[in-house]
Amino acid sequence: MSPRVYSKAYYEKNKSRIKVAVITYRERNPEKIRAQKRVYRERNRDKINAWREKNKERLKAYRKAWYAKNRERIRASWRAFYEKNKEQRRARQNARVSERRLRAIAGYGGKCICCGESTTEFLAFDHVNGDGGQHRKLVRQGASLVGWIERNNYPPSIQLLCHNCNLAKAFYGHCPHSLRQALSPDVGKKLAGRSP
Ligand SMILES: [Zn+2]
Ligand SMILES: [Zn+2]
Repeated sequence: MSPRVYSKAYYEKNKSRIKVAVITYRERNPEKIRAQKRVYRERNRDKINAWREKNKERLKAYRKAWYAKNRERIRASWRAFYEKNKEQRRARQNARVSERRLRAIAGYGGKCICCGESTTEFLAFDHVNGDGGQHRKLVRQGASLVGWIERNNYPPSIQLLCHNCNLAKAFYGHCPHSLRQALSPDVGKKLAGRSP
């Protein structure tokens, strides 16, 4: 079905029915309508531009009113767009962070130096001399520690421990896996009374 040309008398008589038919057609064929409008605009570009120039102020007022009327809707759609991109941005960032972390883990041998645990989720970068708290205050944790490690070309002041061995070292000064060899003598002395 394409738009028809009606005689005036016929149109007057069937006005409401024709209007409904036109609206229905437009709703059902948005692509066709868009294409028609595009062709019309291309053919009448000069005419349209001249009309726009002549009605500049009116258009400006119209746009302003339209924006005021649709403000919430426009803002919501911008927000949705922003949120969608925020998630994508965050996902990309997370992927980069975990990639760098895996690279740093591999750089330190890929396993706990105490027990050999190699599941990366269980591994942590440990400060050999137990000055982690101080150092973390400087470079903070996680991604920035990995960044610091990379920038300093894998310094020997960092070692790879699993969370078990790392916690045991922090708590007792050494890991029960290697009772005789204190991983951190300083902390060991300090917490000697609490050793098992
Ligand atoms: Zn371990
Ligand atoms: Zn251990």
